[in-house]
Amino acid sequence: MSDPCIICVAITGSLPTKENNPAVPISIDEQIESTQEAFEAGASIAHCHVRDDEGRPTSDPERFARLKEGIEKYCPGMIVQLSTGGRSGAGQARGGMLPLAPDMASLSVGSNNFPTRVYENPPDLVDWLASEMVKHRIKPEIEAFDLSHIVQATRMAQNGRIAAPLYVQFVMGVMNAMPVDEPIFDFYIETLKRLAPDALWCAAGIGAAQITVNEWAIAKGGHTRTGLEDNVRLDRDRLAPSNAALVKRTADLCEKYERPVATWAQAREMLGLRMPKGVA
Ligand SMILES: [Zn+2]
Repeated sequence: MSDPCIICVAITGSLPTKENNPAVPISIDEQIESTQEAFEAGASIAHCHVRDDEGRPTSDPERFARLKEGIEKYCPGMIVQLSTGGRSGAGQARGGMLPLAPDMASLSVGSNNFPTRVYENPPDLVDWLASEMVKHRIKPEIEAFDLSHIVQATRMAQNGRIAAPLYVQFVMGVMNAMPVDEPIFDFYIETLKRLAPDALWCAAGIGAAQITVNEWAIAKGGHTRTGLEDNVRLDRDRLAPSNAALVKRTADLCEKYERPVATWAQAREMLGLRMPKGVA
């Protein structure tokens, strides 16, 4: 029996709108409902962004607090991961929600280009975000948009700026960053294993390539992310009707490769996260 596969659902993100797909959850209530369906379909991590009343990305800690509370209530045991990504704020505002002490938070450790702008992650900001995560005992998920980010994460773990073992996500298919390319994917795995043998890894593909990257990750023994943040379509002809439908598509791939889908308790154990109080 191979290791269980952790499925993360990225429910909303900063970019998709109702015009792209009416199923994209924007209000907190919609987000909680969509997360609950995805949790029931097999997702054990919820990767969360929040939007303001106009649907624009924000880092508002009060909104993050309401979303976290709702997920904890309606999806008991699910791992809450809050985004510190750069589309929803600038500078230290990106980490303003970290005192909420979620189970996990995303952490970018280097800069790269996005489709229309530079994704700026200067060293002093990276170190500050990382130190806040250490302080609040939050496990970072390293978002690797480039090979240098993988190397930098292993350096930061070695010198204690982030807690080991690492959990590193390979993000592929972002325009102007790394393409969806299998030899590069394999090299990422090999490099991470060489530099940080105790690290776990997962992978996310953007747009139509989401399912390709899901399949590689599952087949090669990693963990994976799906959800409307990264891709709003089920296939070429159909919009995804929900986050849960994308989770189901990923769980079906796990079955194809004989990987059990990790329960929230298995995911917490693999990631070294505390078990929530009062959840059986
Ligand atoms: Zn995100």
